[in-house]
Amino acid sequence: MRKADYLIIGQGIAGTMLSWFLLQAGRKVIVIDDAKPNSASRVAAGIINPVSGRRFEPAWMYDTIYPFAKATYLQLSALLQVPVFTARQLWTVFPSAQMRDAFLHKTTVNDYTELPGSMRYESFLEQPFGAAIVNGATVNLRALLPAYRQYLRTQEALLETHFDVAALEVTPAGVIYGDISVDKVLFCDGVATTMLPFFKTVKFLPNKGEVLMISVPGLETADIIKKGITLVPQDDGLFWAGSSFVWDYEDDHPTAKQREMLENSLKQLLKVPYEVVDHLSAVRPSGNDRRPMVGFHPLYPAIGIFNGLGTKGCSLAPFMAAHFRDVLVANAPLMPEIDLQRYF
Ligand SMILES: Cc1cc2nc3c(=O)[nH]c(=O)nc-3n(C[C@H](O)[C@H](O)[C@H](O)COP(=O)(O)OP(=O)(O)OC[C@H]3O[C@@H](n4cnc5c(N)ncnc54)[C@H](O)[C@@H]3O)c2cc1C
Repeated sequence: MRKADYLIIGQGIAGTMLSWFLLQAGRKVIVIDDAKPNSASRVAAGIINPVSGRRFEPAWMYDTIYPFAKATYLQLSALLQVPVFTARQLWTVFPSAQMRDAFLHKTTVNDYTELPGSMRYESFLEQPFGAAIVNGATVNLRALLPAYRQYLRTQEALLETHFDVAALEVTPAGVIYGDISVDKVLFCDGVATTMLPFFKTVKFLPNKGEVLMISVPGLETADIIKKGITLVPQDDGLFWAGSSFVWDYEDDHPTAKQREMLENSLKQLLKVPYEVVDHLSAVRPSGNDRRPMVGFHPLYPAIGIFNGLGTKGCSLAPFMAAHFRDVLVANAPLMPEIDLQRYF
């Protein structure tokens, strides 16, 4: 029997961060991941944005989670020798005068606006109502996830296979899965968690996002550009252009309907021609109250969950994973806002 402290299901950003902090704390961890190509973390742009939504509200706990996330990504970047974290300006183009006014009323946001006439990207973008600069960042998930996966291999802490919940045995002493015996199993499997028998009462609200990868000849920038649709520059010179939000979807594949909507948004933003190179989609693991879901099953404390990262996996995951580590290894109290118990 192979013995470890924790079995972690999933190596998206949630499983990556949780396994990292548990390994750092000296715990023995085994991660099982089947590398689903269209998992949320593999499709996401990795944007960290200090403001949320159309009303430009400050993002929840941003002053705490942002510095923590930045330090964690820089540490991993140094360890794994891949570029993970890039501070970027978000060039936020106002789609209307009302949106510009809403932004200007948010004095808590430490940014500035540019008036029409003195604009960046004048020859590329439709921006009659001006734009504001918001200071954010991106996390290069397409570099981080495979590099960290390789790190897990070197630690003999990765099983590259599909996890079958039917083979899980919960005993009074812990959990057995095949020839693996652990104290706890921790589900970091994104939207797949909604199919598990353990969390039926949890109010998941998964939503699907679709994305186009586009080339825009002549447009070269390190900024994120945002106006209804968001353009994020990629290493290969393309732009990630997304994304849609659909709560009522048949499957997790790209659709012609969402492609048409994304292209309509692109036409509202770009004055210049572009070319679609790829079309991707994934489902965001969100909860009904937009807060992470962390903690233990009330009847089976050997079963834990780290999920519900919603639209903000990159900013939330490092701090919340470190917090869950403290709960797991040092019996720290779990933050009530994220405690899974709220659903039971
Ligand atoms: C289109 C889109 C754009 C987004 N943009 C951003 C953004 O810019 N910034 C941001 O912060 N967030 C963004 N998000 C949200 C972000 O992607 C999620 O919050 C985050 O990726 C969730 O990570 P996770 O690890 O919980 O789940 P996932 O990324 O879904 O990872 C789950 C992992 O578990 C594995 N798995 C599942 N079931 C099994 C099984 N039975 N056996 C083995 N392995 C299994 C999968 O292969 C996968 O690797 C976006 C999401 C989408 C869909």
